[in-house]
Amino acid sequence: MASIIKSELDWPAPSNIHAFVTSRQGGYSTKNFSSLNLAFHVDDKLDLVARNRALLQASVSRDLTFQWLRQIHSASVFQVDSSGPEKKGDGLLCKKAGIVCCILTADCLPVFFTNKHGTEIAIAHVGWRGMSKGIIQNVVNTMESNPREVITWLGPAIGPCHFEVGEEVKFIFSQSHWPDMLRHEMQRCFSCAGDPKKYFLDLYQATKVILNSMGISEVYGGDECTYCQEEKYFSFRRDGDTGRMVSAIFIEP
Ligand SMILES: [Zn+2]
Repeated sequence: MASIIKSELDWPAPSNIHAFVTSRQGGYSTKNFSSLNLAFHVDDKLDLVARNRALLQASVSRDLTFQWLRQIHSASVFQVDSSGPEKKGDGLLCKKAGIVCCILTADCLPVFFTNKHGTEIAIAHVGWRGMSKGIIQNVVNTMESNPREVITWLGPAIGPCHFEVGEEVKFIFSQSHWPDMLRHEMQRCFSCAGDPKKYFLDLYQATKVILNSMGISEVYGGDECTYCQEEKYFSFRRDGDTGRMVSAIFIEP
């Protein structure tokens, strides 16, 4: 049996909170999806994805169940009390033990949340669209925890070295209904690319700016680039039709 590679998060979460990110290695998929593609919605063979998902299930305790999302670059957040069919949205929040809250990415940013008591967790799928619609703010506002008691970790995403966007993205951010201070800070997350109509967006820095503006000062991770790290991660920008990694968090049963 293949063995999948999962990285535990390097953050000071309570000991009953478990979280991990898969790499692209150790699965059954081939070609563009080689090898641990965990997404059914891409053009991979469904039986191979099912075998990869079985590897994922086998890598965790048997009493855990998985909650998946059908991600739509929205600001929709769901609180789950039991695992069920996939939800259409981009954030999951959970206070019950034993439910593995999952998101799938290949460049977008997975943001993990827990409070310091280990009683509430959340995870969000953050690309520029969801960010401009307020997905991060919605997660923080939906959490019961005081933001000062929330710690976060930013998973593998496309870095500022490779996330080139058009001027329309910078414009959309400049028009958002955010406080003036936040809007100003967000504009500083865009740096000039070679072409005058292109910018590099620092998704990590932009996420930190939003979290800080919500009162969350403990932000960890955020130092990888899926595009640069070809051996380890899928990257949609680099490879187009490709696989997805899983980012997952749960409260220990
Ligand atoms: Zn890069």
